[in-house]
Amino acid sequence: MFDLEIPAPAKWCWPTFVVPGQNIKEAIASMPGQYRYSPDQLVKAVEKVVKQGIGSVLLFGQTDGHKDNGGSQAWNDHGAVQQAVRLLKQAFPQLTIITDVCLCAYTDHGHCAPLCADGSLDNDAACECLAKVALSHAAAGADIVAPSAMMDGQIAVIREALSENDFKQTLLMAYSTKFASACYGPFRDAEGSAPQLRPGMPADRKGYQASYANPRNAIMESVLDEAEGADILMVKPALFYLDMIQTLRQRTLLPVAAYNVSGEYSMLIATARQGWGDLDELVRESTMGIVRAGADLIISYWASEYERFFGKA
Ligand SMILES: [Zn+2]
Repeated sequence: MFDLEIPAPAKWCWPTFVVPGQNIKEAIASMPGQYRYSPDQLVKAVEKVVKQGIGSVLLFGQTDGHKDNGGSQAWNDHGAVQQAVRLLKQAFPQLTIITDVCLCAYTDHGHCAPLCADGSLDNDAACECLAKVALSHAAAGADIVAPSAMMDGQIAVIREALSENDFKQTLLMAYSTKFASACYGPFRDAEGSAPQLRPGMPADRKGYQASYANPRNAIMESVLDEAEGADILMVKPALFYLDMIQTLRQRTLLPVAAYNVSGEYSMLIATARQGWGDLDELVRESTMGIVRAGADLIISYWASEYERFFGKA
């Protein structure tokens, strides 16, 4: 009777991938069981997730349009994410729809911000671009926008843009404590968003994502995002950073989301496939770790298989 319980599916969020087109359901090789969907096929996949009681989805988009320095296709009102949000809102009015707000899947260099002529990141221009993305998602019907670019000041700029444009009900979930992690490999495969190597350009995202060796600074990022007006904070990844979830839970009164990322998902599957562990047990045990740490919202690819791993709600 004193055991902790895995949260009900309503406290879970399923992250998934939207691509332009129709009739597309493309397996992601490095994330077995997860797919890229065109908006029409996403509706079918989300139906299965909604039937299990999952409370929210988090959408990551892609474009088949022209990629440019500023990632302008990210705020195309007819983009795959914007279309998907409209379809999902119509089909599942109760579902909370969260959209990732970033530029890296839309820039021709794969960074989360436009680059200046000298190859450095243009932080302020990025914030303006991110605000346009957030507005186009909110206009399509997103309940929560989730900026993930880790640009300084992005939460304040987006908050202001939302309220100026009368999206006062739209919530802001900040990827507030997001580490430069080796656990994002399968995700970048899914999104085609690995930063490209070019002379003068940063080769990775360590310049704007938090260092795993500096936990106080990583928590400070969340504190700043809260001050800028975030409604929900996040720690990403989850399993390698359970201490950060616990610290942040104690530091803030806002809800704390934990993002159990692609690498954490795929490594359990790989272990099980090798015969080195039982997948169901691994998933349950690792998820309980996230619960013990104090996460209020679990963002996890396992959400699409909630019934299999955690039984019926
Ligand atoms: Zn990004």
